[in-house]
Amino acid sequence: VGAECVRRILCDCKIEFHIDGPDGTTVGIGRADRNVPRWLRRVVANRDGTCRFPGCSRQIRHRHHIQHWTKQGPTNADNLIGLCWAHHHLVHEGGWTIQGHPDAELTFISPHSRRCTSQPKPLQPHVRHRARRAAGLPDDVPMSADADPPDE
Ligand SMILES: [Zn+2]
Ligand SMILES: [Zn+2]
Repeated sequence: VGAECVRRILCDCKIEFHIDGPDGTTVGIGRADRNVPRWLRRVVANRDGTCRFPGCSRQIRHRHHIQHWTKQGPTNADNLIGLCWAHHHLVHEGGWTIQGHPDAELTFISPHSRRCTSQPKPLQPHVRHRARRAAGLPDDVPMSADADPPDE
């Protein structure tokens, strides 16, 4: 397997495993502490709703580290996005990079420097109200109708 494929698998692994290169040297080790815990998977799934790749509305199958944990990216909601299987594969093996914050606009950049953006799923008003109250924030203005996600 290629190194990028290993990084993709390690993005959201459930088990510890060692991957050895053809010459017998270990090229990747997935550790238990890099698991995305169940509660954090729920946070990412609730926030993103569907795959965050621009234009994709498929079910989330993987949590992707925007900055990979092998490159000091933290395993937290700010650095994780939900992707479908195909787009998780594309981002890694296809050489895409992602910029931005999951709570705001994300920019996906292809290896040919094509840029596409992805907007966060708007929270249901009652959920956002509760979330803001729990965080000690004042209520914000009601959402406008044009903030609804487009039908696909
Ligand atoms: Zn990934
Ligand atoms: Zn997708």
